[in-house]
Amino acid sequence: MPLDKVKAPFTLPKLPYADDALAPVISANTISFHYGKHHATYVKVLNELIAGTAYEALSMEEIVVRSATDKDAAAKKIFNNAAQAWNHEFYWHSMTPKGGAPTGKIKDALEKDFGGLDAFKKAFSQAAVGQFGSGWAWLVKGKNGALKIETTSNADTPIAHGGTPLLVADVWEHAYYLDYQNRRPDHVAAWLDKLVNWSFAEKNLT
Ligand code: MN
Repeated sequence: MPLDKVKAPFTLPKLPYADDALAPVISANTISFHYGKHHATYVKVLNELIAGTAYEALSMEEIVVRSATDKDAAAKKIFNNAAQAWNHEFYWHSMTPKGGAPTGKIKDALEKDFGGLDAFKKAFSQAAVGQFGSGWAWLVKGKNGALKIETTSNADTPIAHGGTPLLVADVWEHAYYLDYQNRRPDHVAAWLDKLVNWSFAEKNLT
């Protein structure tokens, strides 16, 4: 993502596809709230919170990393909004209307570290469905280079802890409730089968 060079005031980044391109797994109606309201609000509130502070001179990624360990009382809100803004841009790019099977280096890595695509999907689905409450399910590259699955709660993000994310699924209810109501397992299964942007994951891997 070109995000790391951008400085405040931040603007809502463009979606990499049309608002109805991910239907029926994610409807244009869900996008209109999730992107047009939730994501937009994280960006707007972040700009308000950092105005006139030292954070104003930093990139989004730097704000996430620095606010994660900042003991100042205002830093938690800055972290929550910056991390949510970063996570959502990463999430939009983790999806494509042309999802399907991985190829190339990411396919090889899934085979090596999970035993193949089906085993990866099973493990990722268990993690995403099992994340209690609001949060995110990630495919990350560990420090030893091996792929692994992680979940984070609320706004938390691997980049705050030195991790290298390859893909993310948003499992906050706002990501699926209009289309799937309480059926998070069905949403995650359809997301894995139809929407994963494997070329984005491969780009992040290499
Ligand atoms: Mn979300």
